[in-house]
Amino acid sequence: MKIIDVHTHLGKVMHNHLALTVKDLLRFMDQHDIEMSVVLPLVNPEEEDYPYTSDDALRNCARHPDRLIQFANVDPRRGGNDGHYDFYPILKHYADQGCRGFGEFLCNLPTNDPRMKGIYRACGELGWPMVFDFRLTTTGVTDPVGMPYLEECLREFPQCTFVGHGPGWWAEMSADVIPEQKNSTSYPDRKVAKPGRVAELLEQYPNMYADLSAFSCHRALTRDLDYARQFLAKFAHKLMFGTDSIPSPMTGARPGRSRRYSWPTSWAECPISSRCSRSAALARS
Ligand SMILES: [Zn+2]
Repeated sequence: MKIIDVHTHLGKVMHNHLALTVKDLLRFMDQHDIEMSVVLPLVNPEEEDYPYTSDDALRNCARHPDRLIQFANVDPRRGGNDGHYDFYPILKHYADQGCRGFGEFLCNLPTNDPRMKGIYRACGELGWPMVFDFRLTTTGVTDPVGMPYLEECLREFPQCTFVGHGPGWWAEMSADVIPEQKNSTSYPDRKVAKPGRVAELLEQYPNMYADLSAFSCHRALTRDLDYARQFLAKFAHKLMFGTDSIPSPMTGARPGRSRRYSWPTSWAECPISSRCSRSAALARS
């Protein structure tokens, strides 16, 4: 097994972005020795101009079962969801067609919102990992400093695998969190004062994992390389390699550019990529 990238997207989800095609993604994977990629649909209207649905992912991935793993995604705010809506039949419909997990969540709801919990229940029954983009702004799943809502759910749903990602999660790398830095417009760059809630939750909860994608994680690791080395070594069994690459219209960037964000040269040799590709979260799915 080479590398599994657990966080990719396809399609044209932003008005002013280029579409990312299956061919683009496969080329990027070949260039970087990535054997398989997880394709995450995006369906929450706060984040995207155009949805990329679970059915789009199934259609795009169908011809490459040896390279692409599709997840499913639905919005928890459907009419009739008063916190008791049963999402199991909907997600089972996608499981039967080949989906292997849920995400990513970008809906602007608290982690412990009763409408979210209906999805957790269904994913728990299916054994599906769930990928979250945490922020503290008008998009992404919201959790205050200290991630109390997430901790409530980790306790309430021990059968569920939670995968943390995004600025609201990675700002908690250090214990001295500034609430404004839990969004995507500013990232903490000072040294880690004391290990934060990321380390505590990964250590304390067997059902908590994280993916290493995007600039938020890059910044969380590069803000303090000494701490990053200890962190990667300690939690290698719970950290999954990911890129979260979306082409930029401003630079014309293609997925290859994301290497700059996610694989800083200082730890490019790190064994993390091969170790995280065998992550328990994916093995369970
Ligand atoms: Zn993403």
